[in-house]
Amino acid sequence: SAPRNFFVGGNWKLNGNKQEIGKIINFLTAGNLDPSTEVVCAPPTIYLEYVRQTLPSSVCVAAQNCYKVPKGAFTGETSPAMIKDVGVEWAIIGHSERRNVFGESDELIGAKVGHALEAGLKVIPCIGEKLEEMESGKTEEVVFCQLKAIADNIKPDQWQNVVIAYEPVWAIGTGKTASPAQAQEIHVMLRKWLNDNVSADVAWKTRIIYGGSVTADNCRELARERDIDGFLVGGVSLKPDFVQIVNARQ
Ligand code: PEP
Repeated sequence: SAPRNFFVGGNWKLNGNKQEIGKIINFLTAGNLDPSTEVVCAPPTIYLEYVRQTLPSSVCVAAQNCYKVPKGAFTGETSPAMIKDVGVEWAIIGHSERRNVFGESDELIGAKVGHALEAGLKVIPCIGEKLEEMESGKTEEVVFCQLKAIADNIKPDQWQNVVIAYEPVWAIGTGKTASPAQAQEIHVMLRKWLNDNVSADVAWKTRIIYGGSVTADNCRELARERDIDGFLVGGVSLKPDFVQIVNARQ
């Protein structure tokens, strides 16, 4: 079978305060998390250091975003060097809300991925088509274009630090989950793209996780698909049900 450890990320988005984060840390600490699942939580930037210092070391932490240079006149931004400096190892890059609410381009997201990897962070670049793109049959074109802009910035030996998140925009926060077959079909396409454009080794080893309205109820069925190597979870990552998603392969 594939050498791809199951991976579950929790994207807290712009939610939580110290009290609420304390409750999340409690269920992550008390819950029996499958030790073979790699778990990564992404709190808001201001809580990164607090969460890193409070969570058990077996749970990794990710920033939800980072900038494309180490320092300088870029008010309001956070660099990979700073994220690493507070003990955090991962960054989500190019989430659909960064793309669609904050107008981040494929080019900017590619540059962020390249710089974050150079700075020694592990990255979760996100791709995914919008509803109208799916309905007009453009899914493949859109996700390949997004993936190319990312892959062009990754050196061969950096792929081990990359987990690709496929998140159809129409499924994020909508309660409309892709069916297991639907998600599996896109994951196979993405893996074939990696095979044809990067290498067979990278295609075989790189985790491709699914995001979009994953719940404790639908996670097991999705996790049974061969090319779904885990999940990126938004809403449910704030709730104790998240533990069931971490354990979806049990
Ligand atoms: C996300 O924010 O990446 C996400 C998938 O959100 P939700 O699980 O709430 O759909």
